[in-house]
Amino acid sequence: MPTNRGGSDTSVLSRRAFLVGLGGGGAALIAGCGGSTLRSSSTTATASSSATTAGSTAPTSTGQSVAQALRGAIRGRVFEPGKPGYTAAARVYNLRFEDVHPRAVARPVGAADVQSAVRVMAHRGVRVRARSGGHSYAGYSTLSDGVVIDLSELDSIVVDRRSQTARVGAGAQLIDVYNALAKAGAVLPGGSCPSVGISGVTLGGGFGLAGRRFGLTADNLVSANIVTADGRLQTVNAQTDSDLLWALKGGGGGNFGIVTEFTFNVHPLPPRATFFNVTWPWSSATEAIAAWQSWAPHTTDKITSILHLDSNNGAPTVSTAGQYLGSSAAVSGLLAPLLAVPGAALTGRVEMPYLQLQLLLAGCVGKTFAACHTVGVFPGGMLPREAFNAKSDYVAKPLPSAGRAAMVAATETPGLGALLCDSYGGAVNRVAPTATAFAHREQLFCIQYYGQGSSASWIDQAWTKMRPYVSGQAYQNYIDPTLKGWQQAYYAENLPRLEATRQRVDPDHYFSFPQAIDS
Ligand SMILES: Cc1cc2nc3c(=O)[nH]c(=O)nc-3n(C[C@H](O)[C@H](O)[C@H](O)COP(=O)(O)OP(=O)(O)OC[C@H]3O[C@@H](n4cnc5c(N)ncnc54)[C@H](O)[C@@H]3O)c2cc1C
Repeated sequence: MPTNRGGSDTSVLSRRAFLVGLGGGGAALIAGCGGSTLRSSSTTATASSSATTAGSTAPTSTGQSVAQALRGAIRGRVFEPGKPGYTAAARVYNLRFEDVHPRAVARPVGAADVQSAVRVMAHRGVRVRARSGGHSYAGYSTLSDGVVIDLSELDSIVVDRRSQTARVGAGAQLIDVYNALAKAGAVLPGGSCPSVGISGVTLGGGFGLAGRRFGLTADNLVSANIVTADGRLQTVNAQTDSDLLWALKGGGGGNFGIVTEFTFNVHPLPPRATFFNVTWPWSSATEAIAAWQSWAPHTTDKITSILHLDSNNGAPTVSTAGQYLGSSAAVSGLLAPLLAVPGAALTGRVEMPYLQLQLLLAGCVGKTFAACHTVGVFPGGMLPREAFNAKSDYVAKPLPSAGRAAMVAATETPGLGALLCDSYGGAVNRVAPTATAFAHREQLFCIQYYGQGSSASWIDQAWTKMRPYVSGQAYQNYIDPTLKGWQQAYYAENLPRLEATRQRVDPDHYFSFPQAIDS
């Protein structure tokens, strides 16, 4: 079953259906790519980048430019600086990397083209980076001194109802995966941002609002086709290479080769799902944090929620939003511990068919499927790009009152930023820390410090305030180029096995980026 890339443009969810179900407070919190009003309002932020080297069309030692060499090697389009289509092809999601110009962007149409591109570029000593959705926080799917292999044409999605598996092309974006799977009565857990690529999200873990029920995206991975640095295309599964399959489940995008296709176990589509939103007055913030952290990682697996603390330009807010895989009637009772906090209000509660709710969470109310993609990147896409910085932490023990006060103080600091806490527990934590490369299995929640625009100062102050209260781990999919000791923070006890696997499959470390696993 193919995706609907640029396909039928039927409206996916009417604005009225959305507004009827949610009060204004709930509506304000929905913004697909991040779940925070900050994210949706940041589109006017100034672009900047520390890496501003212009792409070069200079010939290689053979006298042929890399673009010419790629054109000779692959089916599919190759874009080069100064030529039509290059500017759009070079874009990634975070506007901070707008000025990074690869030497060429190759858009292969099949796995064999990826093999050829890798062989030809490796032979010439030209670096390549894979790109799926282009959402790497640190811009690691682009580079100024090499070539981007953009997998967006490898976007086919085929569901096998009998085996309850789905084969997903490495360039598919989450909203297209959800759409194709829902048509086949199936679901795969993943994030809410519709334009995140299946590759990056899976290879780094993949947390979303069905996560406590169905696990991480990576937990559902059963097989992957991957092109390694020697240009070989291998099918990696538990029989052919259990170490590499283990490593692909959270070992981080860009480390082992270029995946061309994933096969996932999928789950029966829940018939209905309910979005909810609870707000508290800021005066109850510490109690709200206490109630949420005692409840969110331990409640029924059918609920996954995110706690939001938004600085909101000096008028801080605290709320939680989440998804319940059931009907709305049960929600008030399930949220009772949160609603017991003084001033709590259930400001949003809307029950919908599962796919419709994913569109709501994606910020795609009233938009077509084509429009539910990034503007200027995907044909017909209307969702804005952003400039942002982020860091992350994990919390393994309930925050004591001083830790909760630190969160409150961080949020009250002037500036624009947010602390977004993803609740773990449930299916995510039933997997042992060493069973997959994703080590963060004994954590209660992940804090994402998110700062709007190109300045990182707001998140730095928040991250600094929280040092005494966090576990020392960080989420590799909220990849943080400024993090010292990132190897341990991302991979913990899994680092040695990851280093060994990397050494085996890419001994020359051809696939490289600043936080690549190296031994
Ligand atoms: C707005 C926004 C919302 C997000 N929401 C969530 C969320 O809800 N849950 C969550 O878990 N994460 C979330 N993330 C983080 C996201 O999972 C990571 O940024 C992820 O790496 C993005 O994947 P991508 O394919 O879009 O990115 P890309 O930039 O294309 O790739 C990310 C990394 O993977 C490599 N890579 C890409 N394709 C391949 C491939 N086929 N084979 C090997 N390596 C490859 C790239 O080289 C790069 O190093 C969000 C990110 C953003 C920007």
